[in-house]
Amino acid sequence: MSLRTYREKRRFDVTPEPRGAARPKARRAKGLHFVVHKHRASHLHYDLRLESDGVLHSWAVPKGPSLDPGVKRLAMMVEDHPVEYRAFEGTIPENEYGGGTMMMWDRGTWEPEDPAVERSIARGELKFDLHGEKLQGSWVLVRTGGRGDRDQRSWLLIKHRDEAASSEDVAETKPYSVATGRLLAQIAHDEGGDVAKAATGDPPAAVERLIGELRGGTAKPRKRATAAARKRTPAKSRRTRKAS
Ligand code: MN
Repeated sequence: MSLRTYREKRRFDVTPEPRGAARPKARRAKGLHFVVHKHRASHLHYDLRLESDGVLHSWAVPKGPSLDPGVKRLAMMVEDHPVEYRAFEGTIPENEYGGGTMMMWDRGTWEPEDPAVERSIARGELKFDLHGEKLQGSWVLVRTGGRGDRDQRSWLLIKHRDEAASSEDVAETKPYSVATGRLLAQIAHDEGGDVAKAATGDPPAAVERLIGELRGGTAKPRKRATAAARKRTPAKSRRTRKAS
């Protein structure tokens, strides 16, 4: 566990991202946090971040997570991030590392199947349950590459078959921030980012809806819609069942 690479890539007098505590504390393996950031940087991607050993282990998933167990999503392992990063939403200045708009797309707790998380990562297979607002159930990250440095960073993110599995395109149907109910375009607008660039990461239908609301003067945070959506999820589908 080290935040050296994370800090080397960033200028903390320029970016609003957190520097992280000098001595991050590892917490017990229950109630560990996870977050998925939706990040419109040079390319749109989703960053899955799993707390362990006092840091957030992070994978950049270009197409985002899929609820369909038949779909394998490329996940490039990136540098560990500080635990404080899970609360981050905003814009990173365009000329900085990761410049662009970052949304807190999902959050919650996660449970590794094997509590020895670092060992699972070293072995290249990490099985876990997510208890998020959008993502639930059992998942696996599997390393695909061989011994090369770049190969080591190449993983696949796959949903296991359980009650949370679905053919729903969750990236498309749930495009709003779980923290503020905003689209990427709204975050960019509010935080002084590039609105047009950010909007290319939002589903066109959601952007249309927002423009309609702005014209009608009814634009408002969608936090309530998110809470309602959570209520519609039957409790049993939040329980996980390992079938693979
Ligand atoms: Mn990113």
